Amino acid sequence: MLRAAGRSAPALLALFALAGTAAADLLPDRAVPVADYDMKVRLDPEAKTLDGRQKIVWRNAAPEPVGELWFHLYLNAFKNTQSTFFRESGGQLRGDRMPEDGWGWISVKSLRDASGRELAKDATFEHPDDDNADDRTVWRVPLPEPVPPGGEIVLEAAFEAKLPRIFARTGYFRDYFLVGQWFPKLAVYEPAGMRGRPTGGWNCHQFHAHSEFYANFGRYRVEITLPQKFVVGATGKRTERRENPDGTTTHVFEQADVIDFAWTASPRFLEVKSTFSAERDVAPPEYAETAALLGRSLDEVRLSDVEVTVLLQPERAVQADRYVKAAKESIKWFGLWYGRYPYPTLTVVDPAFGAGGSGGMEYPTFITAGSSVLFNRWPLDRMLAPEAVTVHEFGHQYWQSMVASNEFEESWLDEGFNSYSTGKVMERVYGPWMMQAFGVRLGGLESARAQNSVDRMFDRIRTSAWGFSSSSNYGFNSYSRTELTLRTLEALLGPETMARVMRTYHERYRFRHPSSDDFYAVAAEVAGKDLRPFFEQTVERPGVLDDEVAQATSERVREPSGVFGEGEGAKTVSMVEARKKDREKDKAGGRSWRTTVVVRRRGEVVLPTSLKLEYEGGETQTITLLEREYEGASVEKAAALAEPKAAEPWVGRWKRIELVGPHRLVAATLDPEDRLAIDVNRLNNARRVEPDGRAAAHWGARWVFWLQQLLAMVGL
Ligand SMILES: [Zn+2]
Repeated sequence: MLRAAGRSAPALLALFALAGTAAADLLPDRAVPVADYDMKVRLDPEAKTLDGRQKIVWRNAAPEPVGELWFHLYLNAFKNTQSTFFRESGGQLRGDRMPEDGWGWISVKSLRDASGRELAKDATFEHPDDDNADDRTVWRVPLPEPVPPGGEIVLEAAFEAKLPRIFARTGYFRDYFLVGQWFPKLAVYEPAGMRGRPTGGWNCHQFHAHSEFYANFGRYRVEITLPQKFVVGATGKRTERRENPDGTTTHVFEQADVIDFAWTASPRFLEVKSTFSAERDVAPPEYAETAALLGRSLDEVRLSDVEVTVLLQPERAVQADRYVKAAKESIKWFGLWYGRYPYPTLTVVDPAFGAGGSGGMEYPTFITAGSSVLFNRWPLDRMLAPEAVTVHEFGHQYWQSMVASNEFEESWLDEGFNSYSTGKVMERVYGPWMMQAFGVRLGGLESARAQNSVDRMFDRIRTSAWGFSSSSNYGFNSYSRTELTLRTLEALLGPETMARVMRTYHERYRFRHPSSDDFYAVAAEVAGKDLRPFFEQTVERPGVLDDEVAQATSERVREPSGVFGEGEGAKTVSMVEARKKDREKDKAGGRSWRTTVVVRRRGEVVLPTSLKLEYEGGETQTITLLEREYEGASVEKAAALAEPKAAEPWVGRWKRIELVGPHRLVAATLDPEDRLAIDVNRLNNARRVEPDGRAAAHWGARWVFWLQQLLAMVGL
């Protein structure tokens, strides 16, 4: 279906030029191939080694000649305790510890250009991110002559690698192999202007504890040779399978328009095959609903068929249907909302028991999930963990694999966008609760909110993956806080506009490498408003949002007493007379109430919100509090921007609102519809007015909710 054809240099330049302009078809069919890999690899399952050969074609898409090549040698992260990965992680990642002496490494034996010149002899290891001269994950190769603009270089390499024992994403556990980041891989050459770069250059970071990847699009063809008993899964489509005279089998996989290639092998895999049918698995009303939501034609939202393979551990065979359903629902909803999944295959790997460190990873058309036999039976079979991991890892096909942002430098663009999308798909397919058992309900979004606190104010979301103040702040900011931020943006823009923002961003940057600024520009364009203040506060700067109702009182308005006027005309109203008038008005029901509400901003982030006032007798009033004065726009006009009845600017850290009306205030609530998901403390958003007029914190039934969150977090 997707073929890579040979191209001459002028045709290639034309293709690059085309990729830079908005084409008539909003969703690009294919990527501009920058790096193609044709590889042959042999696995020795006893020695846990790979013997590999590769032919690489790299094309220079920059307007300048490029005189060196930079490669990632990721497996060297596992080479010894001196690697940057090891120093940062302490040999521990995502709760897993490195097994004793489970070292892994990669060594390039030779790298030759088309005229047979050996390039490896002049190569050096670089450490662009830190001062660690012992790190061997970035390799720089000077070229005898530069690659001209629009030109290409063909390389032949031979390498050997020892796989690490799995604890972080890749390696082996007994006879289970998850082979990721396993070959010498070119970094991305960024011309000036790309992702805001002032000058052209290689973007090549070391392997860090928390960072993931960034790579070129291209075509992969990989021949994997290993003993016959192994069941193999990989990126792309299997195009050939050869039995060899020495008792091995060669499996050939091919895929174009991808940024990476990973594979797995185990003699124990249970292979479950299924087809996602664009006809059968999507109902006509679902197509119609999506087209209406996005303002697109039915043709534009039409999906295509995908062959789904689940490689299951036999002891979890009973979970097969759950994996298949999660995979198909992901293909469907990600496809409907952001654009058709363009590849013919998807492979989902259920890692072996003891190899959990290889679970929860994403590669093009190939994802690793994660489960446990515990989820086979009640009550944990109601815990949607295998589903959530499958949906999340599939989501990375969209955010990072097809929209290939730089995971090293801007992790929020993949993990955070994906957490947001995953949350929406999970809610759509499975409802809001991740688990319901023993009266405890755990929701994905609610868990994210429960982690949010003032302690999180020190990092900004847009930070390089290894630049956060702590591991937990990397995780919180890259995943949950971004999800909460995008949910907040959705509340401010409305669901339809937000859906169109995400769709447009995906379409425009599918098979490209956007930065945060590219997303901001799309969001502003689609929403038709200046969103810089939003992104500057929530993504570009540290700080939290915490709005509170600090005071809420309601008192009867008294008849005036005292001396009024001057000289001859002066008149005295005694306090007795005034009280008498008050009583008469009470009887006639004509007394009014003076309501005073003080709202405060405890955090630095300032967003529009609203204040709901509930009065005795059931009357309510909602005042929109705009975050700034709107120049040249009246309050009414500003209100029209943000819908509700009345609007007032709220400038500064606090604001007093005074109103006189016929009813006593009962409660005042900021953000009554819980739109600002990034608010770190919802308990101070409301106050109730006691009958004697004093204000009291308005907990309502919320404590039950918080108790549930607490129980969920301690692992119940
Ligand atoms: Zn992820």
